[in-house]
Amino acid sequence: MKKYKRSIPQVLSVLILGCVLISCQNTESKNETIETQETVAVSNFTPENYRFPREVGTTKGGYPVTLSGKPITKNPLVIKTDESKVKDYPEHFIPGNEFLADNEMRITIMGSGTPAPIRAAQATSCVLVQLGNGDAFIFDIGSGTVGNLFSMGVHPSELDKVFLTHFHLDHIGGIFPLFDAMGWARNTPLRVWGPSGHTPELGTAAFIDNIYGASEWHRQSKQDLLPVEGATFDTKEIDISLFSLDNPQQLVYDNDGVKIFAFPVIHTIDGALGYRLEWKGLSMSYVSDSEVSTFEAEQCTGVDVLIHEVMPSAEEFAKGNNMSIEAARSVIGQHTTPSKLGYFLGLTKPSLGVGTHFKLGDDTNDALFLGLRQAYDGPFLLGQDLSTINITPDYIVMRQTKINLLADPPPPKSQEGLKLTIKEHSDAEIPEWLTKTVIHLEE
Ligand SMILES: [Zn+2]
Ligand SMILES: [Zn+2]
Repeated sequence: MKKYKRSIPQVLSVLILGCVLISCQNTESKNETIETQETVAVSNFTPENYRFPREVGTTKGGYPVTLSGKPITKNPLVIKTDESKVKDYPEHFIPGNEFLADNEMRITIMGSGTPAPIRAAQATSCVLVQLGNGDAFIFDIGSGTVGNLFSMGVHPSELDKVFLTHFHLDHIGGIFPLFDAMGWARNTPLRVWGPSGHTPELGTAAFIDNIYGASEWHRQSKQDLLPVEGATFDTKEIDISLFSLDNPQQLVYDNDGVKIFAFPVIHTIDGALGYRLEWKGLSMSYVSDSEVSTFEAEQCTGVDVLIHEVMPSAEEFAKGNNMSIEAARSVIGQHTTPSKLGYFLGLTKPSLGVGTHFKLGDDTNDALFLGLRQAYDGPFLLGQDLSTINITPDYIVMRQTKINLLADPPPPKSQEGLKLTIKEHSDAEIPEWLTKTVIHLEE
């Protein structure tokens, strides 16, 4: 196996981070708060609130065990320039307790799991990107992720930019609870970017129309109670027919110095996308389900952090799901195995590769690293829910986030001065014979 390109700094880095972590454990116990950018601090943290149910330990392969509060990696700090520039970070990221520098990006995995099978410890695909300018972007919105999103200390009205890769349900199942922030917390449309589809019914506009239609009862029932402005979508369909070898990417978001590019990837049928975000010289790429290709590699080469799906080999998948090897091969053939991801990261050379969309477990994690390391020896993090990555021009730090399981999102913002519409009561009146039976009590 080749040596790590950054082997000496990495060894130093791990030592430095170790020292940082030890010193941080001390400061944390004093409940010291470092500068914060988020407007509302999440309070009342006690050890009982933290969701690290497992003791810190390592797998046979020497990786931190899942759910122990440690990032699943052997190199939690990557130096890009000079290790003396690494600032002190607490061992865990606690939402509301940290400021991002104005040239710093924070990526947090909101859902790291896979639909095969869904488990309580892992929501399905979703990544939150936060920037030092206060911007926040959501890539995919899998089921079970909105509780994690609302625990991040970001006001729900600012969680309004969603970029969808494709419409497999494990990437979109959280759209209803995110949309449900309408009225009480978000009084502007939920903005959703996504592919146009090979035919219109396979595209983002049709998907959103169907979500809108499916929420008809919900919206009518609330239209005389809450402002209706938040009960809408702003759909930004990305025309996939415009992609070609000569036009491999489209700039789909360009605002306040943030650029997001979309590019097509190969996954089951036409119309799946990957994204690359660039801001102030920092960059990340997010590709969920895909069969890796040289085309895809060209679109995300050289980013700081490349987040990519990874599924077990067909043999492991067949074993884990009591499935025939033929069936497992046809499923896994639409995805990226650990050895393919290793090869792909070798081609694209990110500062940090991140795997997600994976059924975590001590043995499965070791098998993943074994496959990956056949072809790639660079820095790699296996994502868990709430794995957090801070990126600066000089370094990348990986930690786990501690959230208060009972944390509320920040309270609704003042609506003073806003002209918001309350519509008339729905015509769908509950029949009188039923309402007459309401129990009235003096209270
Ligand atoms: Zn998929
Ligand atoms: Zn998927």
